[in-house]
Amino acid sequence: MKQPNILFILSDDHAAHAMSCYRSRINRTPGLDRIAQDGMRFDNCFCTNSICTPSRAAILTGTYNHINGVTTLATMMDNRLQTFPKLLQAAGYQTAMVGKWHLGQGPAHEPTGFDYWCALPGQGLYHDPEMIEMGQKKTVPGYVTDLITDRSLDWLKQRDPERPFCLLCHHKAPHRPWEPAARHAGRLKYTTIAEPETLYDTYRNRARAAAAATMRVDRDLHDRDLKEPVPDGLSDREGKQWKYQRYIKDYLACIAAVDEGVARMLDYLDEAGLAEDTIVIYTSDQGFFLGDHGWYDKRFMYEESLRMPFLIRYPREIRPHSISKDMILNVDFAPTLLDLAGVDVPAEMQGRSFKPLMSGEVPEDWQTSMYYRYWMHLADHNVYAHYGLRTLRYKLIYYYADAAGQPGSIDEAREPEWELFDLEADPQEMNNVYNDPAYVEVVSDLKDELHRLQHQVGDTPCDEV
Ligand code: CA
Repeated sequence: MKQPNILFILSDDHAAHAMSCYRSRINRTPGLDRIAQDGMRFDNCFCTNSICTPSRAAILTGTYNHINGVTTLATMMDNRLQTFPKLLQAAGYQTAMVGKWHLGQGPAHEPTGFDYWCALPGQGLYHDPEMIEMGQKKTVPGYVTDLITDRSLDWLKQRDPERPFCLLCHHKAPHRPWEPAARHAGRLKYTTIAEPETLYDTYRNRARAAAAATMRVDRDLHDRDLKEPVPDGLSDREGKQWKYQRYIKDYLACIAAVDEGVARMLDYLDEAGLAEDTIVIYTSDQGFFLGDHGWYDKRFMYEESLRMPFLIRYPREIRPHSISKDMILNVDFAPTLLDLAGVDVPAEMQGRSFKPLMSGEVPEDWQTSMYYRYWMHLADHNVYAHYGLRTLRYKLIYYYADAAGQPGSIDEAREPEWELFDLEADPQEMNNVYNDPAYVEVVSDLKDELHRLQHQVGDTPCDEV
């Protein structure tokens, strides 16, 4: 079989509920929707640690963060680790990475396994960014999303057509501080974006961790995020509404350039006659709170942050308009791509290929629960370190609330506590039922499953209260 090409598009902080193919109430994404229409939409794709650097390491290596060592934003990835691009390169693929890397710079951390790479340093800038091209830093005029698309297309056009390619196209957008391209900046100005149902969450009936987090739309956005002064004379509620509109409009406008860029890449594949032989994936390193629970940012194991969008198009394997509800994780991406390319998956990769799901064959022992851990205790947004379990129906979270020696964490312990959500009864996770007597047995079973999964992936439980 001819080895397929791979175009892997990763954006940063793009929540599925800001994509129209995921039935967004607030956004239209016609470019991205083309991938869903022609391929498969995964409705239960989850990250194992909802923050940029760790999720990227999990995606590349197919391992959990306690194994790959990239637990927080302060732990850069050792670029000697095995990754799927390295294995594809060894199997004869032409490989490239363009855009946000965010796994460190310099000889020990810069991209490896790529014939060509051009990375933003750190988070990168939206306008006239510096880019490091094969180790050479330069300032490049233009808007970052367009530059990443242009360079990706340039590389595709000069490749050797006789060999398969794997291109990682990694957008910075729509990461904070949400600076749109000039052509999109004012386009939602006279529109009112619908508010999420949980914008006015009061964090009652929940672990203390929720109220403690400093990522509230009404209180924690900076002037740089809002970009214009808050009008005088607004009530607290009106102020929150105004800030939500400012925030969400810029966030959506940043996605507009990503959507256009993806459409351009799809057009190129069509024009070059590559669409049939090319796997196209669109995903993001985690989800994001779009005013949900009154927040922006991510980190929590709550649904909006835990969920990743995942679209895949591959006409040879996947029928148009397919949808999978089965659970897939970011650690599963690497083994899946290797499997699709016909390359052996090394035993040290902890994820599992979900290629069978693409043709509707669900293995009998497919995962129905997943393990999550957020390590970066209190840093940036005062979110307590936690781990937990999500099953098809429940979510159990343990805020162990301790730095546990992790770089980038703040070394001040908080009182540990548990949360349990019954996602069938309470899909918005507003009511912690951990102490509800009706759930005693559920809690006991879930703790057993949590510890089983922890053991399986090689993590160690904290002392649990
Ligand atoms: Ca991110």
